[in-house]
Order: sequence, then C-alpha cells, then structure tokens
Amino acid sequence: MKFKRDLVKYVRDKAKSQYKKEKTCYICGSSENLDFHHFFGLTELLETWLKQKNIIIENEQDILEIREVFIDENYDKVYKYATTLCHAHHLRLHSIYGKRPKLITAEKQQKWVEIQRTKHGIV
Ligand SMILES: [Zn+2]
Ligand SMILES: [Zn+2]
Repeated sequence: MKFKRDLVKYVRDKAKSQYKKEKTCYICGSSENLDFHHFFGLTELLETWLKQKNIIIENEQDILEIREVFIDENYDKVYKYATTLCHAHHLRLHSIYGKRPKLITAEKQQKWVEIQRTKHGIV
C-alpha cells in the first residue's frame, strides 16, 4: 500500500525544521553535501512504535495527529541520536549497516562514527 510506505514522510516533514544539522561532517569536517543521519532510523522507529501501540493508520488525518504523539514520545531518538555526515560518509555508514539499519544497531553505528572521526584526525 503506497500510503503506508510514505508515513515516515509525514514525520520527517514535521520534525526536520528542528533538526540540529551541523555545518560540517562529524567524521571528516567537510562542509559540502551534508546529510542528517538518524542512529534510530525513522522508518524503523515509526513502524515499531505503531506496532507496539497497535495503531492502525487509515487516512491522512490519522497520521497528522499521530505524528505529534510519536515525535513527542521519541523526542531524543528523533533529535538527539543523530549526526551530520557528508554524503560520502553517510553512504558508507549505510553500506555497512544497510539501507534501513535495525534499531538495535544504533549504538554500533555511533561507535563506528566515533572510530571514523578518530581516523580522520578530528580528535
Ligand atoms: Zn565526511
Ligand atoms: Zn542515514
């Protein structure tokens, strides 16, 4: 169902104005082609949350209401557990952890980012 696949877009639209996107890549310091990466992927996070709560989204009005609750209850995961990466490093991370990394890999991803940062001599 097309509508369901796009649910996360509603969350992203709502949340992105408050993203704390940095001006440089956390790993290499590049200031070009920057992406915002969530250690807890929003698609996975939303789907898991909806399932846990037994929430069925049937129309647009549902998701417009539900996204407020979702963002509120997952505030740290949506805003805090995220980092700014250049496109190349972002792709690299996803090539290791997959297009939609499992939620349980969040900590591993964070460690990976820290290790790469050290390698690039940022710290
Ligand atoms: Zn980079
Ligand atoms: Zn990402």
